[in-house]
Amino acid sequence: MPDRSKVDLAVIGAGLAGSACLARLHQQGFEGTTAVVEAGRGPGGRMATRRRREKPSWRLDHGAPGLQLPEQLPDGVEQLLRPLREQGTLRREWGWITGLDATGHLVDAPEEHSDKGAWHRGQPTMAHLCEGLLDQASPSLERNFGFRVRWLQHTGGHWLLMDETRQTAVEARILVMSGTLLAHPRSLAMLAWPDVPLRSAIPTHQDPDLDRVLQQLAGSRAAVRWNLMLELPGEDDRNVPLPRQILLTPEAQRRWQVERVVVHQQSDGGLGVVVHGLDSGEPITPSSQPALLKREEQRLMELLPELLKAFPALMRQWPQARSLGVMRWGASQPLNHPLPTSLQWCMASNIGFCGDWIEGAGFGRAEGALRSGVALAELLQPGA
Ligand SMILES: Cc1cc2nc3c(=O)[nH]c(=O)nc-3n(C[C@H](O)[C@H](O)[C@H](O)COP(=O)(O)OP(=O)(O)OC[C@H]3O[C@@H](n4cnc5c(N)ncnc54)[C@H](O)[C@@H]3O)c2cc1C
Repeated sequence: MPDRSKVDLAVIGAGLAGSACLARLHQQGFEGTTAVVEAGRGPGGRMATRRRREKPSWRLDHGAPGLQLPEQLPDGVEQLLRPLREQGTLRREWGWITGLDATGHLVDAPEEHSDKGAWHRGQPTMAHLCEGLLDQASPSLERNFGFRVRWLQHTGGHWLLMDETRQTAVEARILVMSGTLLAHPRSLAMLAWPDVPLRSAIPTHQDPDLDRVLQQLAGSRAAVRWNLMLELPGEDDRNVPLPRQILLTPEAQRRWQVERVVVHQQSDGGLGVVVHGLDSGEPITPSSQPALLKREEQRLMELLPELLKAFPALMRQWPQARSLGVMRWGASQPLNHPLPTSLQWCMASNIGFCGDWIEGAGFGRAEGALRSGVALAELLQPGA
């Protein structure tokens, strides 16, 4: 735990939006001191990459396995992506993306002809995209990983970011929040918190804009995903075509309650597989979660042989598949009630918001996260 530090601007969250915001601020000439506070062990957020202590080379993209980007993006976003493209950290997807219908047959990928743009991918992993963005932030950026903010206080024009034990990591004049955990009532049930931390920090009627933000969020829902992670041994012949993503058609999703299957080739020839399980809608609390994770693991393991029939190379390895457990994404993608861009910055409280939950192109996806991080930075530090 670092001693309390004082900065001009702190960002909660080192996902795509928070990292993009910090990078763009630096590009725009923001001269104040900055800090990032992130609950995870490293950058990535929902683009995090799972590692394993017993296998240091292992990398598994267990959140978003790719992102679609249109040809035309705002200049500010392009300026951040250019170095990533040049370094090879952001690449056009080179793997095979296929669709799977409800009879288990291969079809065109459902999103192949959509206007969301071409699939891209972080190389070597998705988390490298956020790392690459943070590298473009100020060299003096203070990085706090493994620190989950539980309490927020706004006193004397300063924000205090505290953990469960009310220990303060960072004091900042301006706060940027890139996730919804501290502002959405879902944290109450999921984490057994009695309050919405941002609401407790700023009482009702003190900042009408912030009241609107919290009201808008309270009505919003997000998709839950139960991602089963597997290890397969891989085959000697590396030329056997393997899919990167198997996207299920809507009928197939209904039949199997699975959204897609992702394959991640490992540097040692092995394979990581992630099965994105859909949610049954059962309420989740800290006490019910362990049993639900077990049940979902069993369900997905049982149906995979049926799902993968069209992929002989994966089926050959199936008998040796080993489960690495299920990761539950409590809010994998926001579904509705985007936050209007006019509320991205609440001046009375010196707090700004970015993330894929902000209205606009790419809402609910990585593209929206990137755009919103850049837009907020440009609001805070207009014109380079
Ligand atoms: C399974 C899955 C599949 C997906 N597939 C796709 C896809 O195919 N295409 C696509 O475009 N998008 C996809 N997405 C969505 C995409 O990952 C997100 O849109 C994007 O990563 C969101 O970035 P963000 O920065 O807005 O949020 P996040 O990545 O969630 O970043 C917020 C960060 O804040 C941190 N944080 C939150 N609260 C606190 C706190 N109190 N204290 C400290 N830290 C905190 C979190 O740990 C997190 O790192 C998928 C997501 C998931 C989970």
